[in-house]
Amino acid sequence: MTSTIGSLNKYIDFSNEAFPNGDIHSQFNMADDNPTVLRLLKNTSPVLEDMPCLLVLEIFQKDPHIFAVPVVNHNNIPIGIVERNSFVEVFIKPYAKELYAKKKILGFMNKAPVIVDHETFIDDIARIIIGAGMQHMVSGFIATENRQYLGIANGHDLLNEITQRKQVSLFHLAHFDQLTKLPNRRLFIDRLNHAVATSARSGHCGALLFLDLDYFKTLNDTLGHEIGDLLLQQVASRLTTHIREGDTVARLGGDEFVLLLENLSENVLEAATQAKIVGEKILAALNQPYQLKAHTYHNTCSIGASLFNGHEVETEELFKQADIAMYQSKSDGRNTLRFFDQVMQDVINARADLESELRKAIEQQQFQLHYQIQVDSAGKPFGAEALIRWIHPERGTIFPIYFIPLAEKTGLILPIGQWVLETACAQLKQWQQAKETRDLVLAVNVSARQFLQEDFAEKVLVTVRHHGIDPTRLKLELTESMLLDRIEHIIATMTALKVVGIRFSLDDFGTGYSSLQYLKKLPLDQIKIDQSFLRDVVTGSIDRAIVRTIITMGHSLGLDVIAEGVDATEQQQFLLDNGCSHYQGYLFSRPVPIDEFEALHSKS
Ligand SMILES: [Mg+2]
Repeated sequence: MTSTIGSLNKYIDFSNEAFPNGDIHSQFNMADDNPTVLRLLKNTSPVLEDMPCLLVLEIFQKDPHIFAVPVVNHNNIPIGIVERNSFVEVFIKPYAKELYAKKKILGFMNKAPVIVDHETFIDDIARIIIGAGMQHMVSGFIATENRQYLGIANGHDLLNEITQRKQVSLFHLAHFDQLTKLPNRRLFIDRLNHAVATSARSGHCGALLFLDLDYFKTLNDTLGHEIGDLLLQQVASRLTTHIREGDTVARLGGDEFVLLLENLSENVLEAATQAKIVGEKILAALNQPYQLKAHTYHNTCSIGASLFNGHEVETEELFKQADIAMYQSKSDGRNTLRFFDQVMQDVINARADLESELRKAIEQQQFQLHYQIQVDSAGKPFGAEALIRWIHPERGTIFPIYFIPLAEKTGLILPIGQWVLETACAQLKQWQQAKETRDLVLAVNVSARQFLQEDFAEKVLVTVRHHGIDPTRLKLELTESMLLDRIEHIIATMTALKVVGIRFSLDDFGTGYSSLQYLKKLPLDQIKIDQSFLRDVVTGSIDRAIVRTIITMGHSLGLDVIAEGVDATEQQQFLLDNGCSHYQGYLFSRPVPIDEFEALHSKS
């Protein structure tokens, strides 16, 4: 390139020849702090210096959005700019067209346009325009790349861009903490109000977590504020990475941070558990060592939490509650989380204790199987149901209803369920070695989570093979509620186990949603009438009708029918009269340890 622009423009910076060859369109709307002129550029086609001015007039008339037309020489180097208003005005005058029609545009352009390189920052352009005279605000200015024409921009867009960015930065100053870049108290309260209103509409709980660093003052006093500030910044970034999407973290000032958790469960206890999980993740994250310049530093924090559900509590009160809870956690030894509500705290603690004790129970095998006998109409035992008991070292025997739901929720049901299966198979093996007990069928309860494991069938088969038992003496009890979902998978698992002779009973029958469609499809052997129907079966006409229906339906599907909860001879008689000849209940025996069971069995 040989031509120079010479004196045309003093604002072009030719010092940097290494321009990137990027597509300018891809760089429009770049959201950075200090954008270049590219953001404002319009790629209006330039006209050549010898173009007749009437053609330029046509350009303006065709497109009202063109505010100025750049003029270039034959090397595509910009040499002037034609501003719409002043140019069009010339042609309003009488005979103007006739007078100027054949003249070149060269005579009509502003020969001293503002020309900037495409990498010039917008803030610098503003200074250049002001320095060159405000008329350039009207005409706009030209951007080049390698001195060649690239596009033009107008002063109005420039002004807009600068004001908007000022507004954004003012907003940022007013709503964000400058040290950590987190929202400040003002923005946080705004979000909290919004969250409370959302919670009132949706019914979902939210939580406010108040977080205070432990011994922060000591750090500031010993290592200085600069190091203290570094810690605050690192804490802020850890908090940001450990909250869930949609949650808010803010710095209130000093070493106080606050978290807003939204869209938790509708159930307050569930919500508290969810808040606790987030709180514990944060405690763990803030417990990791910090690198503060040359110092490796350990720090902890104390967290107080308050829950909200709609507008029940004023937001100011929520802050107070979380603050009180935070002081509670400080006085409880720091590095911990406390809830404002003591009752809730107790329930949460109890649940957490139960979970850790349950883990210990699995490790230390604190479980036992009890056996409840099952008999036929002649009173002859044909089997038993194995029922788990937790023999707690301090609390004594704990019934499954108190720990199975938690085990299901935490997944601990898997090792527990496997233990039950192993123990039941070991027992069957023993029974199979004696003539009197050889034919006993043992029923084992299987939970949904356990049964729905991809490899459940294989696990059972391995266990059966390992203990060398006759699989036809093992019966798995499934519950109706597990049949709601993935029915094809369930059938496949059942079929795989059925092949070797393992039996299936549908437990708690009548309480769930079994449809006849399902019952027909499932390879079941037995249905078990839920004990709730037995309670009033002697006097209640509805329960009598239900039990009769279940028996008839079961038999018509070719299934064996057993009733559980048979506590009185009248109940047994009613069942017998209606064709049900298999029973389980206190009338025969409650669930008992193996020794008692065997004694009972040998008597009969
Ligand atoms: Mg059962």
